[in-house]
Amino acid sequence: MKFYIKITPMKKGLLLLLLLILGTSCSYAYELVLPREKKSISNSDYAFFVGKAHNGEAILINDTRVYTASNGAFAHSVKLKNGENRIVIRSSYNTQIYKIYKEASAVQPEDKICDFETKTAVVKNDNVPLRSTPENYGTNRIAHLFRDTSVLINGSKKDFYRVFLSKDKTAWIAKKDIEFTKNSTPAEFINMDGKRFKNAAVQMISFTKNLPYTVEVKEKEIIFRIYNPELSETSVYSINVPKPEKYTYKVSLEDGVYTFKVSAVPDDIKDCTIVIDAGHGGSEKGAVGCLRDEEKDVNLRIALELQELLKQAGANVIMTRECDGTISLGDRVKIAKENNANIFISIHLNSIGDIPMNIYKNKGTSIYHFNPNSKELAEILEKSVTKSAGTRKDGVRTAGFYVISPSDYVGILVEAAYMTNPADSVLYRSESFAKNVAEGIAEGIKEYLNR
Ligand SMILES: [Zn+2]
Repeated sequence: MKFYIKITPMKKGLLLLLLLILGTSCSYAYELVLPREKKSISNSDYAFFVGKAHNGEAILINDTRVYTASNGAFAHSVKLKNGENRIVIRSSYNTQIYKIYKEASAVQPEDKICDFETKTAVVKNDNVPLRSTPENYGTNRIAHLFRDTSVLINGSKKDFYRVFLSKDKTAWIAKKDIEFTKNSTPAEFINMDGKRFKNAAVQMISFTKNLPYTVEVKEKEIIFRIYNPELSETSVYSINVPKPEKYTYKVSLEDGVYTFKVSAVPDDIKDCTIVIDAGHGGSEKGAVGCLRDEEKDVNLRIALELQELLKQAGANVIMTRECDGTISLGDRVKIAKENNANIFISIHLNSIGDIPMNIYKNKGTSIYHFNPNSKELAEILEKSVTKSAGTRKDGVRTAGFYVISPSDYVGILVEAAYMTNPADSVLYRSESFAKNVAEGIAEGIKEYLNR
């Protein structure tokens, strides 16, 4: 006997109602922002689950109950084992299964330094990092060499050549930035000259060709050294320039003439040029939060509030962007250099962070700087921003981010909060957050200038 249901108009109504309930209940279920794919291959030790739960919905990830903030934001990390990992995300409304295949990390053989006879070469690109170790990371940079600088190379390791500077100093440079030359003659010293201005000291030194240099910041002075190892292993020219308490410095090189300029940062904010850099923008969204908010928008809101406050204080304020547009890192730095910025503030919000076993612990405001001239402002801003915005102190750190690398200005990158932290998401989505962060930054800058 065939069994069938005869749908009467009343039953039809009930069925529609049932479908409607089932349909809407799906939209009550949690949404995951990360991971983006249900099936993926990974070589990390942890997988991150970031998303939004519906009001009161309990989320279980592999049977661990996950904390959700008042707005539903949640974040969780799962340790991956080699091979296939099956991760079940469950609530009373929905169950989703993610499959992440972790590749066993192959043990890399240790690369050895290869020594060879000294060869002459030139730097073939602009702004090439000279590093203290043969590794590509931000904080081992000791100078940025100019195109056509003559160098001596006497060894290599992996992607780097060793540069011979003097009998007690070597450094490293990326192979891709070097071109070997056949004939070379040692550079000759031409002359040296210095000028003093009210707020700056300028020293010039010239040679018959471009030579490598390094910078060392001491307590009371800055030492610029130029090396002419082709002439002799001990041919080093040192220029010591007195260091003001708050300072910036600029190195330029043209046709063998080095100019080192050390400037004092004005005490009065009315004499200061401050560049505000809202991170990312346009097609570059930056980090994405638990509730799918985009970092670029939060950055811009803070930047616009800060613009207002610093203008009111009388500073000359320049914005790298005032709307949602794409702008390269190079152009951001160019704007600051062309306007002779004294201070550069880049505004960001953080993402996953560096505590992978428990991403929930990555929380609060972190302040980054690169050159020693920016450390003092970084320390002041950590206090003033966390106080004003109500965020946790996540630390002052040194990092070689591109926009804060130049020593031409006091450069700071503020990570106001974590986009992926559930509790932070309640804060940064609140109406007063942008204003509070901006007030913290503005107050910090004033305190730094008044010291
Ligand atoms: Zn960012």
